[in-house]
Amino acid sequence: MIKNLFCIHTKKRGMWCPQVKKKTGMNSKAVLCILFSVAVAVICATVFVAQPVSSCYGPHVTANISATEINIYESVTVEGRVCLGLEDELNLTVRVTFVRPDYSWIDQPVEVDNETGDFSVTQELDMAGYWNVFPIYGHINDRLGVTVIDPSVDSSNPPPIVGSPFKPNMLVVTAAITTVSISAVVAVFGLRKKTRKISFLRLFIQVALVYLIFFGIFVDHEILPQPASKIPVHEFVVETEFFGVEMADGLPVPFFGCYYPCGRTVTCALWEIQTSIYPFWENTSGWGVTYNSPGYVRLAVIIGVVILLSVLLGKIFCGWVCPFGLYMDLLSYLRKAVKIPHRDFSESFNKKFHQFGYVILALLIVVSVIFASEAIVNAQLVPGTEDGGFVFQYFSAPFCQFCPMKPFCVLLESSVGLIRPEWISQVTTGDFYELGYYVTSLNLLVLGVVTVVSFFYRRAWCRICPLGALIALFNRFPPFKWVSVFRLDKVEEKCTKCGICKRVCPTQVTEVYDKKGGDVTTSNCIMCLRCVEMCPYEDALQLKAAGKTVLRSRNWLESS
Ligand code: SF4
Ligand code: SF4
Ligand code: SF4
Repeated sequence: MIKNLFCIHTKKRGMWCPQVKKKTGMNSKAVLCILFSVAVAVICATVFVAQPVSSCYGPHVTANISATEINIYESVTVEGRVCLGLEDELNLTVRVTFVRPDYSWIDQPVEVDNETGDFSVTQELDMAGYWNVFPIYGHINDRLGVTVIDPSVDSSNPPPIVGSPFKPNMLVVTAAITTVSISAVVAVFGLRKKTRKISFLRLFIQVALVYLIFFGIFVDHEILPQPASKIPVHEFVVETEFFGVEMADGLPVPFFGCYYPCGRTVTCALWEIQTSIYPFWENTSGWGVTYNSPGYVRLAVIIGVVILLSVLLGKIFCGWVCPFGLYMDLLSYLRKAVKIPHRDFSESFNKKFHQFGYVILALLIVVSVIFASEAIVNAQLVPGTEDGGFVFQYFSAPFCQFCPMKPFCVLLESSVGLIRPEWISQVTTGDFYELGYYVTSLNLLVLGVVTVVSFFYRRAWCRICPLGALIALFNRFPPFKWVSVFRLDKVEEKCTKCGICKRVCPTQVTEVYDKKGGDVTTSNCIMCLRCVEMCPYEDALQLKAAGKTVLRSRNWLESS
């Protein structure tokens, strides 16, 4: 069965899953419909079935704090309840962690009432600034906050900051210098190879950009001279504002990269789109962040920025910038190193498979709108979407619960000490319905599948990536197509139909080969320029920027 599923898309085995068709009589459309229905069913089951009817759902902890503003050395009391779940365990202990503004913390273990699940703990707070308070039961935690004021310090006249508030983490700086230097050396040697010049230059740029994108990991939060205010400092490095709207999550960009390791300088547009719809459509605060405008205003700015970036650079984000694209490229390099040839999907399957990106994109927007129904049309369509409800806690930003990039973002952050590993470690092994704040079993499952498939099939995820689909929408379809800056051009008279461009394309674009001439850019093209690099005919393929040729194919068959 598994063998059949694995082989059904290979060219070798025929046009389209002959074994399946023979055994089941189903054609490709039927199989796609079934896959789509299963995906919708899984989402529905996760949201509706896994959500128990009681307001106290599952193993879960909710709590309240006695005050949100106190003077230094005063105490707060945290009172909460653990929903005892299916096991009805006795003698439970909850850990309540009071995190100081400088990120040191006080742990308070507290016993839970065996009958009610209630607990209560009091703590004196000894540092001015904003404290995060986490009542933690297993991996499930609530998040509270309290501002501690020191009356002896005039808050309107804060003491001058000694040194830079953004002290670099030297370990990360060293790692960055080392890896960027290694890739620079590889690129310099690679530039000598006529058929690898662009690929190695691209690899170098991809590696260097990873460090620029994940700017937040350079900040050493442990030794900050300035206490973090309101939210952890790594989440709030740079304030950005576009069109007069404060974008507290940073510039929305069309490539994968969660806001936490990015230091909120840039943030994946999918996250921003989803959360602007739900839960922030009308709200301006939540999850420890305060925005100065409601979600629908920010959504307009996000879409505007994404359109602008897509028109300007389009899929260059995919070929040259996206860290997850780099991950898949590294898998391909690994496959080549162990001398395993890549596999290809059948052409017809590849074209249909590509459409899934638009389906996922539509789904994540529709599901977010349904979740936000109370704010948008004043009617709650899904129970648990209220502030603090099940969906609010565990299923906001639905695509992020499945996103294969998220584990990298979270693990990267925890590896440099920006979040405590124990806050994420159990979530990664929890039951599927136990979706957490940081990384879920589903994320890991999807990442595992994508890793295996991308090892054999180049850039497999890119073919169904909703972010790639979003860029394509604003770059490859009219009217955006008419004004997009970059495009691939083919000169018909110079093309000999050798077929090399078709064979080397990592996403199996066929139009560059099939089309007669002119603009041959397609929505599936990731602008890696491998076809331009490998085309052996002078000027047959060209990269144009605003109508000007910036790169052209060369005759690499002749020795210079
Ligand atoms: S989890 Fe994935 S989709 Fe969500 S913000 Fe992170 S990279 Fe983007
Ligand atoms: S299509 Fe590929 S490269 Fe582009 S955003 Fe998606 S994962 Fe990244
Ligand atoms: S068509 Fe060319 S530039 Fe586009 S993905 Fe394929 S090889 Fe890369």
